[in-house]
Amino acid sequence: MVKDYLLRGVTKVGNMRGIACVTTDMVNEACRRHNLSVTGAVALGRAMTGGALMSALLKDNQRLALRFEGNGPLRKIMVEADSAGGVRGCLGNPAAEMFSASGKVDVAGALGRAGFLTVIKDIGLKSPYQSKIQLASSEIGEDLAFYFTESEQIPSAVGLVAVPAADGAIAVAGGFLIQSLPPADESLVEAMIARIGEMAPLSTYLEQEAGPEGLLAALFVDTPLSMLTRQDLDFRCTCSRASVQKVLAAMDRDEIAAIIAEKGEVEVVCEFCKSRYGFSSL
Ligand SMILES: [Zn+2]
Repeated sequence: MVKDYLLRGVTKVGNMRGIACVTTDMVNEACRRHNLSVTGAVALGRAMTGGALMSALLKDNQRLALRFEGNGPLRKIMVEADSAGGVRGCLGNPAAEMFSASGKVDVAGALGRAGFLTVIKDIGLKSPYQSKIQLASSEIGEDLAFYFTESEQIPSAVGLVAVPAADGAIAVAGGFLIQSLPPADESLVEAMIARIGEMAPLSTYLEQEAGPEGLLAALFVDTPLSMLTRQDLDFRCTCSRASVQKVLAAMDRDEIAAIIAEKGEVEVVCEFCKSRYGFSSL
């Protein structure tokens, strides 16, 4: 079984950055933990893949969070990723289901076409960087590309895929992020846009043995990448008994004492990984 990982590199000429990843395992781990609907699995799969790709842009010990909030039944999609390839995610309503008239998963309809994407980056400064934009298409990939272009002024293309399997799991998930860095080579950008337009569905590249290597090779067919580096990816939560206890300690002590007196313990469930923490005293 192919483990999740990403590859990143820059073109030998023309200042383009390319990142591709396979995320099937981490998305299936999220499906198991959150008991996701098919629509939920595809939506969270795309968003977690986007978070994984963006984590490749972080420096050591930095983190980022993506918050998609829409007026559809999914309500929100939250993803966090760190520079070491740890990704976690959850949905406002993991049971929400929506299909188009042709029977395809309708992520944009489920998230809702009106809403916001907030990108938060903890890069070690006193307060985290935060940028909030309107959702562009609510299909996740286009929204992230729009964020890069709009908020960071970096022309970017994002392709994300999460293909549902018959058993409710995800057959394959992954994607790519391409950025044009200054000074931009316009002809190379034009060629890349044309290339993306003529490619086969992303899943066909990721399903094959070649994985992210094959996807990058297909994208950068005319301008090979150099300095390819690899990063393993995992579903990884940052919660711990100690961190949960800290949150409890900051809450109303009388209220918590009353719950413990009544039920014998107070239970906290992590919204990202569904781990349960029970405390019979504080
Ligand atoms: Zn957790």
